[in-house]
Amino acid sequence: MRKQIVAGNWKMNLDYSEAKALLQDLFKLNKKFNPDTEVVICPSAPYIGVFAELLADHNWLKLGAQNCYYMDNGAFTGEISPIQLKSLNVEYCIVGHSERRDNFNESYDLLSKKVKALVNHGITPIFCCGEQLQVRESNVYREFVMKQIEDSLFAFTAEEIVKCVIAYEPIWAIGTGKTASAEEAQEIHGLIRSRISSQFGEKVASEVSIIYGGSCKPENAAELFAQKDIDGGLIGGASLKADDFCQISNSF
Ligand code: PEP
Repeated sequence: MRKQIVAGNWKMNLDYSEAKALLQDLFKLNKKFNPDTEVVICPSAPYIGVFAELLADHNWLKLGAQNCYYMDNGAFTGEISPIQLKSLNVEYCIVGHSERRDNFNESYDLLSKKVKALVNHGITPIFCCGEQLQVRESNVYREFVMKQIEDSLFAFTAEEIVKCVIAYEPIWAIGTGKTASAEEAQEIHGLIRSRISSQFGEKVASEVSIIYGGSCKPENAAELFAQKDIDGGLIGGASLKADDFCQISNSF
């Protein structure tokens, strides 16, 4: 059965003491988080080592990274490898967030290599896809999102794809306060699942978690998560408030 997941993308927010304070707030809410939800936090890279130690006694809370490179090691100044993340018990890694595609020109091919490297090292990639506002308005958004998935993920085997999480994040909804309606989100989630089904089979498609991102908050999470192909959320702004993040985990 596929997992229901709530993953917090803290982005480049919070200094070290603020990040540790937020972590402590989450610990205090431990018993209030939904036990049937996989709860993941993705803090900024410099905090991952200390967080790995602080999380050692809190295995209900999973550690994620916001990015990685695809090589194991070597002369890649500033980059982080899946092996290094694995050595810190990182279990998830966001790949291809629109902010990285746009600001750092990450190509479909690069993202594909990152996903492959993560899967090879036993880290679950959270592969992001989603269209810009002008693509949505030009009405080719379905084809656009399918191409993102096909180009980066469809060279994989069924065994590999089943180890991935897909996050549909319409870019016009990220950090804008403008959420996709539950119907708009479900349309794309349903298409992603049926495309995976036609490529890898129905069983594989039924096991891949597809989560939604884009101004997801306590007020709209329940309606989104009630959709049959929405298995949770990748949460930006609302993951910086422990109470909101906890409430979102209970919105299934
Ligand atoms: C994100 O950055 O992945 C995201 C969904 O952000 P927000 O929830 O703030 O829109």
